[in-house]
Amino acid sequence: MTQHTPDDLWRDFPKTATEFEKRFATEEDCRAYWIEARWGGKPACARCGSTRVWTIREGTTLECAECDHQTSLTAGTVLEKTHKPLKMWFRAVFEISTRRTGISAMDLMRIMGFGSYRTAWTWLHKLRAALVRPEREPLGPFVQMDEALVGGKGGPHKELVLVAAEAGGRVRLAHAATNDKATLKRFADGQVAPDACVMTDGLASYDADSLGKRPHEAKVQTKAERRENDAVQGCHWTISLLKRWLLGTHAGAVAPKHLQAYLDEYAFRHNRRRTNGVGRIAARVIEQLVRRQPLTMRSLIDDTRPCRWFRKPELSA
Ligand SMILES: [Zn+2]
Repeated sequence: MTQHTPDDLWRDFPKTATEFEKRFATEEDCRAYWIEARWGGKPACARCGSTRVWTIREGTTLECAECDHQTSLTAGTVLEKTHKPLKMWFRAVFEISTRRTGISAMDLMRIMGFGSYRTAWTWLHKLRAALVRPEREPLGPFVQMDEALVGGKGGPHKELVLVAAEAGGRVRLAHAATNDKATLKRFADGQVAPDACVMTDGLASYDADSLGKRPHEAKVQTKAERRENDAVQGCHWTISLLKRWLLGTHAGAVAPKHLQAYLDEYAFRHNRRRTNGVGRIAARVIEQLVRRQPLTMRSLIDDTRPCRWFRKPELSA
């Protein structure tokens, strides 16, 4: 049996609103795509694995011919227990994928006609969790590292964000409690190739303890020198665009405990800014909605998991 890869799926994903309306005109169209993304077109029983299944309850549930077990199409996925049609979810996926700067909960509420901000917010968080995935390829071969304070619109409270940026390339962002050597080391080890050349400003925490054997140049610059030739310009640009995005798209309404999710979305969009990838992004989101475990309301609101960049590195590459 040939398995369809996500690559087959995204090539086929609509890129314009008109194409989208046509391709996903009915709930059945969306279910067919969902079954393709989840089971490679061959749905199987969740209990015994048999592919002798048929759909019941207006297509929302599979029943197994071998063991009678019933499986909802969305059980065990991020969309588990959703009361809304897949068609609405697909529409929301399309909206966040086609807008280069993403979308706010207010925008989504208007577009989808939701009665409450809370519903829109919850949807957006589920989609945001699906939008990003851990990127395993570390940055290199020339990487700038810096840190900045972000947020605290009108107030004194600001959050520390660590930045690593390839010259003209990809970025990684991490919400951190401090910029001590141990924290910088975990960030560098997780995100920067062990043989990358690292450029930083004069902050003393960037040294052999935090950066290991990576060749390192620390440049102490005056404002005038920085204007002339900023040694960590990629980081400074990233931070200024990030701040503009948080204030623009999200009106600065980001709670510290959710900041990492926004940083991940920002980095995801930034790192794909040159690919004309509406289909690729949308297909990726649906693939992640299918594959990831359900997120409960509690886990969304009380998300106290440590920043994922700082978790123990997984052994499987
Ligand atoms: Zn079965």
